[in-house]
Amino acid sequence: MNLPHVPLEAGASPENPPCPACGEPLFPWVGMPVASGIAHRCEACGLGVLSHGEKFDFPRRAGEDEAEAPVGGAPGRTSPGVPGTPPTGTSADVVVDNSFDPGTAEDALAELELDRDGDGSYLFDNRASFACWLTGGAWAGLGTDRRYRFTPHAVTDLVASRDQVVTRTRQRPLRGIAVMWQSGLNMFTFGQNIVMGAFGKAHRVEGDRPWKRGLDWFISIAVAIPAIVVAVPFELIAILFRRGAASRAEIQVL
Ligand SMILES: [Zn+2]
Repeated sequence: MNLPHVPLEAGASPENPPCPACGEPLFPWVGMPVASGIAHRCEACGLGVLSHGEKFDFPRRAGEDEAEAPVGGAPGRTSPGVPGTPPTGTSADVVVDNSFDPGTAEDALAELELDRDGDGSYLFDNRASFACWLTGGAWAGLGTDRRYRFTPHAVTDLVASRDQVVTRTRQRPLRGIAVMWQSGLNMFTFGQNIVMGAFGKAHRVEGDRPWKRGLDWFISIAVAIPAIVVAVPFELIAILFRRGAASRAEIQVL
């Protein structure tokens, strides 16, 4: 079957601003845990760009309330974007209003810098990982207070903008298994990253009711063993295919 090839650029609009890493348009991806925001992603380099405090239901129906001003400050974008052509997959009777500020390459690099290891390499949970693909909105990387979720491709593009090259991207099996395991648990809990968050290994997003927070611990304990039985082989297979959940990018200045 011959399908017409549509370049990604055709999707560029105020609702699909350019990716800070590679310049291709960003598209809505998933809602963040406990309705804490919206995640967009770049279909080219895989960078995830998170908007905290925005409601998940990004395809608004006509007549619904306008979105409140973007949280986190977005000068120059104070007025809601003019609804443009709905992205592929939405029907024409919904008004799409999800314009947001994706920031710049400098913003993304500054955040990457926060997880620089002692040897100069960058540590990040891989948005292009098998764990992320498998668990979607439950992926542990979405329980975060950060704005960007990196991939090896996105890191390569970002550091290139300041004349650095990624010499090697390594897998981090232990953290990868933990992220795969926690992402699996997140599929059953109200909150996100309950266990890794308790150990300071991830950002914990708690359930919005006390009973949910209590139940989340019960669920985490009940599912812990079955989840590890699945997570270990899955993550090891992912690492074989270089789709591990946790990465280390070694860089070199040109
Ligand atoms: Zn990109």
